[in-house]
Amino acid sequence: MWRARLDPPWALAGWRDAARTALRAGVPPEAIDWDARGDGLLGSTPLAEAPPLQDAPSVPGGFIALAEAVLAHRDPHRHALLYRLLWRLTRGEPGLLAHDTDPDMRRARQLEKAVRRDVHKMHAFVRFREVPGEANAFVAWYEPDHFIVDLAAPFFMRRFAGMRWAILTPDRRAVWDGQAMTLGEGGDRDDVPTGDAGEALWRRYYASIFNPARLNTKAMRAEMPARFWKHLPEARELPQLVRGASARVDAMVARAPVPPRRIIPAPVVPDPSAGGDLDALRAAVRGCRACPLWRPATQAVAGVGPRDSRIVVVGEQPGDEEDLRGEPFTGPAGRLLDRAFADAGLDRASAYLTNAVKHFKFELRGKRRLHVRANAAEQSACRGWLERELALVRPERIVCLGATAATAVMGRGFALMRERGRWHRAADGTPVLATVHPAWVLRQPVGQSEDAYASLVADLARVAAALAGDGPTAASVATDVAG
Ligand code: SF4
Repeated sequence: MWRARLDPPWALAGWRDAARTALRAGVPPEAIDWDARGDGLLGSTPLAEAPPLQDAPSVPGGFIALAEAVLAHRDPHRHALLYRLLWRLTRGEPGLLAHDTDPDMRRARQLEKAVRRDVHKMHAFVRFREVPGEANAFVAWYEPDHFIVDLAAPFFMRRFAGMRWAILTPDRRAVWDGQAMTLGEGGDRDDVPTGDAGEALWRRYYASIFNPARLNTKAMRAEMPARFWKHLPEARELPQLVRGASARVDAMVARAPVPPRRIIPAPVVPDPSAGGDLDALRAAVRGCRACPLWRPATQAVAGVGPRDSRIVVVGEQPGDEEDLRGEPFTGPAGRLLDRAFADAGLDRASAYLTNAVKHFKFELRGKRRLHVRANAAEQSACRGWLERELALVRPERIVCLGATAATAVMGRGFALMRERGRWHRAADGTPVLATVHPAWVLRQPVGQSEDAYASLVADLARVAAALAGDGPTAASVATDVAG
């Protein structure tokens, strides 16, 4: 007969060393006294003296975690149970861990579950109290069911890394000095203060969040058994709160119903006359709910560019890339526009670029989001934002790209292909030139796209010429239209 003495009895390392020695010596489970105190059974030999007869076999994954939890249980037979499992696992039953109906496995799982639940309770019910006379130092007294301090302490180390603390239990203590954790012998309840300055505040707070309408004393006792109450300052409030719960519920029912607080912000609608600057406008556009397009889109895409831009370039609506990036003219059409700007002698960086409609309208084809033109109601709902941008930037010239932009600026009935490339006058008198949208150029078949691009550049060149002083003035635009 062999005897094993484990100190402390919950430590995985000590039990593992002993179990490995026993396995290598081929000692069967029934030949070990795991509960040996002093000399153990008469005539038994310390396990450490067992001669190694074979290499230690490998252990299936999962067993160590199970063993660590089971060792923390107070069951006096746990060491023998674990060795029995280990013996069977390494002697022809490698799948034993999955057999929850096996009596040994079922018992091991019961112990594991009890320990994990005890750890959970400790995480929830430890209450620190300030150490009198010491800054940022706290101490707690706790009485777990099992030997779980080693398992539970890392949680407190992570959660309260910024303070110095100690948790004392009858069997074990954990101390964190702000740098390292030490695990040592248990403590005495009298070493822990019974209250501190923050406790009254905590009790008042607990009483204020206690909801009598949700009181379920059975569930409460299951979750927070009465034996934990002695650790909890708030427990002193509980009898009174429970006693008064039904009267408080009656009073709540008798009270006139209070309408629920609005949690969804009121929809924002475009307001051309609103004050503020471009940043305020962008923020407001992001909250716009004036038409349904905001819902499936990723975000609203307001204009970009300097406040003192001499031209405002208006496109139709954000595309797929713009919707994702939140910036206009960053997709394929935007890149073509960059090239056309450069070829026409315009500087994109000094222009204010925006769209007539601020949200991306699309339909799904598989995973692709295909552009769909905003309808008249959607265009109309969004017009206020463009008007506000134009009012803030006050450009010398407006350039409309495509029919939607031209309609937004010039009104319905504007015939783009007939009027493109010519100067017109917006309602406030600002000269406006409309041309095709770069996306339209990209859609042209091979052989026609070069001409389409050249015509776009030619139109933009008229804008560059006007900005350079070589074009109709605002006052003479009407003549240009007529001509
Ligand atoms: S498309 Fe325009 S009007 Fe419609 S929700 Fe977006 S910003 Fe508002």
